[in-house]
Amino acid sequence: MALTTTSGSSAGLRFACQPGCTRCCEVRGFVYLTEADLLQAAAHCGLTPAEFERRYVYRTRHLLRLRKPRGRECHFLHEGGCSLHPAKPTQCRLFPFWPELVEDLTAWRDTARSCPGIGMGPLVQIGTALETADGMRCAYPTIYGSR
Ligand code: SF4
Ligand code: SF4
Repeated sequence: MALTTTSGSSAGLRFACQPGCTRCCEVRGFVYLTEADLLQAAAHCGLTPAEFERRYVYRTRHLLRLRKPRGRECHFLHEGGCSLHPAKPTQCRLFPFWPELVEDLTAWRDTARSCPGIGMGPLVQIGTALETADGMRCAYPTIYGSR
C-alpha cells in the first residue's frame, strides 16, 4: 500500500475540518450507529434510548441507521451544524479517516473534491490515520467484516 497525500507527502494525510462546513452531512448516504452511539445520542437529546430509536433509528437484523427526513439527508443537520455534535455517530466522528479512504489514495483524493478539509491542517501520521480507520472496522463489523 502506497499512501501519499493531496499535498504530496508519503508520511501521512492532511486533514482539518473547516469551520462552518457541513458538506459531508449533505452527501447522499446512510449514517450507521453502534449501540453505544444510540445510547449517547439519546442521552444528548434527553430521550430514552427506546424513544430515540423509535423516532430516529431504523434497525435491521445487523445494522442500525438514522432514518432520513423527507428531502434531507439527516434529521440532526441544522443551520448551525450538527445538533448531535458531542454525541454524533462513530462514522461522522471518524470521517474522513474511513478504511476505504485511508487505504486508497484515489478515493482519498476523490473525496477531497467534496471535503474541503482534506489536504488542510497538520500532517496526520499514516499509522495514526490507519488506527483511526480501524475504529470504523471495530464499530461496524457487519459492514467491514469481523477480523
Ligand atoms: S466535508 Fe470535510 S471539512 Fe466539511 S464538515 Fe465534513 S469533514 Fe469537515
Ligand atoms: S449526525 Fe450530525 S455529523 Fe452525522 S450526518 Fe447527521 S448532521 Fe452530519
